[in-house]
Amino acid sequence: MTEVQLPAAFIRQMQALLGMEDAQQFLNSFLAPRAYGLRFNPLKTESVPASAAALEQPFHLTPVPWCNTGYYYDEEARPGKHPYHSAGLYYIQEPSAMSAAELLDAQPGETILDFAAAPGGKTTHIAGCMQGQGLLIANEIHPARAKILSENVERIGIRNAVATNCAPHELSAKFIAFFDRIMLDAPCSGEGMFRKDADAVGEWSEEHVHYCAQRQADILEHAAIMLKPGGKLVYSTCTFNREENETTIEQFVASHPEFSVERTERIWPHLALGEGHFVAVLFKSNEPSNGSFAESTDRDKSKRRDRDKKGSRASSLQAEMELFHSFAKQSLPGFNLQAGEALRFGDALYWLPHDREGRFSAASLDGIKVARAGLHLGDIRKNRLEPAHALAMAVKADTAAWVQSYSADSPEIAAYLRGETLPAEPRLSGWGLVAVDGYPLGWAKASGGQLKNHLPKGLRRFS
Ligand code: SAM
Repeated sequence: MTEVQLPAAFIRQMQALLGMEDAQQFLNSFLAPRAYGLRFNPLKTESVPASAAALEQPFHLTPVPWCNTGYYYDEEARPGKHPYHSAGLYYIQEPSAMSAAELLDAQPGETILDFAAAPGGKTTHIAGCMQGQGLLIANEIHPARAKILSENVERIGIRNAVATNCAPHELSAKFIAFFDRIMLDAPCSGEGMFRKDADAVGEWSEEHVHYCAQRQADILEHAAIMLKPGGKLVYSTCTFNREENETTIEQFVASHPEFSVERTERIWPHLALGEGHFVAVLFKSNEPSNGSFAESTDRDKSKRRDRDKKGSRASSLQAEMELFHSFAKQSLPGFNLQAGEALRFGDALYWLPHDREGRFSAASLDGIKVARAGLHLGDIRKNRLEPAHALAMAVKADTAAWVQSYSADSPEIAAYLRGETLPAEPRLSGWGLVAVDGYPLGWAKASGGQLKNHLPKGLRRFS
């Protein structure tokens, strides 16, 4: 891309923001090749440095300075085509976008919202920090994008995430003073996308910047309602103008004295290897500034009453859970469920994670659209349970009754990913896992010296 293709008003904006000299360096960065990044998934890889060392040669990995699980890779490496990608060992993410979830600093056991989550870069990063403990709600307003988010939650093997498909006001009506931390990676004018997406340039205008700033202010109001006193809010964008960044945050804090800004950070494409990002870290004071805390306590009581009513709903799933336990006893003997409850959507049986304070349950989801209600355990087929792909992705290989593991470049892995039947030792029977170098790729059912392939059709790859 050349400088002349950028809108004149954008160039003027950057000259006003950076000064003529720095703006020229900034604009020159649009002529440089873009940086590519991936982030290792600590839910799968026992040691990120060891995994990185294994892939260092084929992918030419070098560390991203602001994210200890992040690495740059060579454009030609195509890590999205590697079987390790199917196994969820890493998530491909623009390097500067890795800064926001690092600053959120999610902890195991907390209750966290990723408010604008698709396709799932920050969600998968946060989930790695949570180590499967606590509750992560990953929300996306657009249904098609919520589906992609849900697929990434599955591939990365996240057990404790609920993917919702809600507008901001629908969530804030339910979850008042509820979250320990909120990530708001806001929809923005996308100036940091110009180098990788020509459409973003065409969509840019000063009016669009104003519109985005207004929308960000609106979404922030809902985030403010949902954050607990003492909680942390991280706001980020991939755009450069002040209006959607510092000004949005200054105006928000001016009208919400209970919030303070701990720090703001920018990654600039002419100063670092990345497309650019803005991050603001805010804290909400412990003093309840309005009626929201008392109101939320009342709501909690009514939610608990609702949940007690739902008890009957959960106990009516006892039969389904018995099918699951009998499957697990036979085929996944090392597997344990964490605090949660069973939920059924059609034939699909889910395990909904609970939060540590006992405020979240199936009743909390009443009236909101859910793309993934926690860990998909399996589908009920007459009197048996067929295990879900999500379950294969969320377990370690050594929890299964048997595992057939092959090396990444083996013909068996290519055949499995194409959906083909594999030969098996005659002693194997029943459900087990096919793995790449010990990392589960999906289920297979062994009988008569063959492994019947249960990789979902939509995930099969023919090239
Ligand atoms: N956090 C994501 C990640 O790391 O992969 C990227 C999120 S993207 C910057 C912003 C998201 O906000 C988009 O998925 C978009 O669909 C969503 N969005 C658009 N309009 C919105 C609105 N009015 N309220 C909430 N989210 C919105």
